[in-house]
Amino acid sequence: MSAKPPTNGLAPRTLAAQALGWEEAETHAVVTPIHVATTFIRDPDNQYRNGFIYGRPDNQTVRQCEAVLTALEEGAETMLLGSGMSAATALVMALPAGAHIVAPTVMYWALRNWLMNDATTYGYTTTFVDTADLAAVKAAVVPGKTKLVWLETPSNPLWTVSDIAAISEIAHAAGAICAVDSTVATPVLTRPLTLGADIVMHAATKYLNGHSDVVAGALVTREANEFWAKVRRVRSMHGQILGPFEAFLLMRGMRTLHVRVEAQAKAALALAEKLAAHPMVGEVLYPGLSTHPQHALAARQMTGGFGGMLSIRVKAGEQAAISAAARVELWKRATSLGGVESLIEHRASIEGAGSPCPTDLLRLSVGLEAVDDLYADIDRALRAANA
Ligand code: PLP
Repeated sequence: MSAKPPTNGLAPRTLAAQALGWEEAETHAVVTPIHVATTFIRDPDNQYRNGFIYGRPDNQTVRQCEAVLTALEEGAETMLLGSGMSAATALVMALPAGAHIVAPTVMYWALRNWLMNDATTYGYTTTFVDTADLAAVKAAVVPGKTKLVWLETPSNPLWTVSDIAAISEIAHAAGAICAVDSTVATPVLTRPLTLGADIVMHAATKYLNGHSDVVAGALVTREANEFWAKVRRVRSMHGQILGPFEAFLLMRGMRTLHVRVEAQAKAALALAEKLAAHPMVGEVLYPGLSTHPQHALAARQMTGGFGGMLSIRVKAGEQAAISAAARVELWKRATSLGGVESLIEHRASIEGAGSPCPTDLLRLSVGLEAVDDLYADIDRALRAANA
């Protein structure tokens, strides 16, 4: 395998399109082979000089895919794991025993549930705050005890935007790290490590892969420090590394990341504007609209667009929202986000009791279809649901 080419001076989309330009040494193939070996031959003197020992801690296909994401996030190193949840939980499990965590009140529901319920059995406690409110974050952080401030921006499913730079400063002043779930922003629209965050997490299942056919998670660090070594140990000891086939697909997906995300953000903005004027829609939640409470922050922090996710609140309430979701034909009625096909979901039903999600809310993940087709379908469904 040829050495990694220098990234200096090349635009992120160039690096992504060529997956860093890796070339297979024997055949000069522009697509590298999938490395599936789980074990590697020792040198005659019993050493492992080529750096590979066993498949649980490491894999060459995974390493190549990690290098692409490191370049896009402008980080020091990346780790790929079996899912977004395994990435987030590995990070928490690497914190010292008894650590206190600050996290958003409205965030990806499964992680919120895990922090609220499961993490406490390992001795971790979490204070949930509105992370759009800097004073609330400051008040929730306990110097010396808080070890992690977790952000998700824009966050599910209200698309609240949090100030990464300001909150990283608050976290650091208290002796904590700041980690950002940047799944929805992607490195195309926000690079949290350049704003002061310590670690970026992605549910790579979503935009990074982009084709709804891989479950994967990623962590990218600004510094390969002692804490990062602990996270790496959790991944290795708990056997959480991503499989080589998934890493190969993820790398293939990332080659088109920029064109997909840019097109999805453009389409989402067009749909948000059209739906804001729809007679059956009470509110559109999208950071790109001037009516969004953190629009100014989003415009400052996000570059090149506001993402492909939005939510609408149906004026007539929960039943009308569920009924509209039942009547779409083009939008797929499914959970998840970030794929090339557009998805619609009544979020409160999946999040269950205790969810802060309004019951009249429909979450929309905008794919790559024509905006006019998407609008016509949802317009018809909303009108039929209200008839
Ligand atoms: N973070 C966000 C913002 C998500 O939307 C999801 C999944 O929907 C996750 C984390 C968890 O990712 P995964 O399903 O790959 O575990």
